[in-house]
Amino acid sequence: MNFYDQLKQEMEDLEQSGLLVTIRTLEGPQGAWININDKKFLNLCSNNYLGLANDKRLKDAAIKAIEKWGVGPGAVRTIAGTMKIHEELEKKLAEFKKVEATLVVQSGFNANQAVIPTITSEEDAILSDELNHASIIDGVRLSKAKRYVWKHKDLNSLEEQLKQAANCRRKLIITDGVFSMDGDIAPLPGIVELAKKYDALVMIDDAHGEGVLGKNGRGIADHFNLTDEVDIEIGTLSKAFGIVGGFISGKKQLIDFLKQRARPFLFSSSLSPAETGAALEAVNILSESEQLVNRLWDNARYFQQKIKDMGYDIGVTETPITPVMIYDEKKTKEFSFELYEKGIFASAIVYPTVPKGKARIRVMISAVHSKEDLDFALEKFEYLGKKFSII
Ligand SMILES: *Cc1c(COP(=O)(O)O)cnc(C)c1O
Repeated sequence: MNFYDQLKQEMEDLEQSGLLVTIRTLEGPQGAWININDKKFLNLCSNNYLGLANDKRLKDAAIKAIEKWGVGPGAVRTIAGTMKIHEELEKKLAEFKKVEATLVVQSGFNANQAVIPTITSEEDAILSDELNHASIIDGVRLSKAKRYVWKHKDLNSLEEQLKQAANCRRKLIITDGVFSMDGDIAPLPGIVELAKKYDALVMIDDAHGEGVLGKNGRGIADHFNLTDEVDIEIGTLSKAFGIVGGFISGKKQLIDFLKQRARPFLFSSSLSPAETGAALEAVNILSESEQLVNRLWDNARYFQQKIKDMGYDIGVTETPITPVMIYDEKKTKEFSFELYEKGIFASAIVYPTVPKGKARIRVMISAVHSKEDLDFALEKFEYLGKKFSII
């Protein structure tokens, strides 16, 4: 079989096992409603928590930055690609996060690659929650450190693994802040306690906590009042911040070291001026007012209460991520299809993204949804829940 026949075979296998992804194309900007194939859909799947992806102030800031700095950075940060606007963003993010320093890279995915293999080697241990995001897993794969996987959110399991890693030089505990499929939050106070006891470092990837948790959306460390106890925090500019890009928060010593050694920083060009300018404005908006964060939470509480009252199970969520549990894979796909027919875009999440028999419709609530939008969705969920004998 030649290469293309092999690909054909592998694609057919994906289709047979129901793993083929359908890519839908938006015909306009992100928002509460989106256009697909000339039809309007209520958008319940984006990470645009605060509606900043199409915000006037961010767009104006991006245009201004283009006028002043051009469209491309021209080089990697260490050669000629560091502009004043990048350093301004890093300073502003550090103030916002209440940390000594931050480093901005091209994405949250890259931020994990920039940190994990750079600060660990053969003599070290990485302790990773079993449900950590793919970008953490790939970052760990790039490291030569020993790997210890602990059971999801289970502090006893983490402690056992820490004991096994006792003789390693550095022990790096890594966890998602908010887990994206269930919306549950990492047990940060317990993790910090164990890190102290076993002399380990704490690294938290706050992609879904940024702009959602903590005062003014400062994130999970602020939420638990543990900013000074977290050694490394990964952030993304692509979710609540509404743009694209990633950043690392920590002590100045860590950031200075990463600037010397982190490969995505050294070998891939910096953020474009437009993204950087828009990100600066996003931080301004969050710093000025809690209005958007409050609206997000009001919407989330409203939707979650109503859907629970209907008799749905929404699992263990503690955030605006709302997994509407249907359990059966086939039923979930049909449900999602019928929602789509009724003008609602919400993703069906099935095995292998979540365990077998834990299929769900994942509803992402945003500050841009109006109560009428949420009621529209609730009405369809009620109708289909009865039709499918779920409620
Ligand atoms: C989404 C996500 C990322 C990737 O962020 P990008 O900026 O889109 O690359 C990394 N980590 C976690 C936990 C995420 O949820």
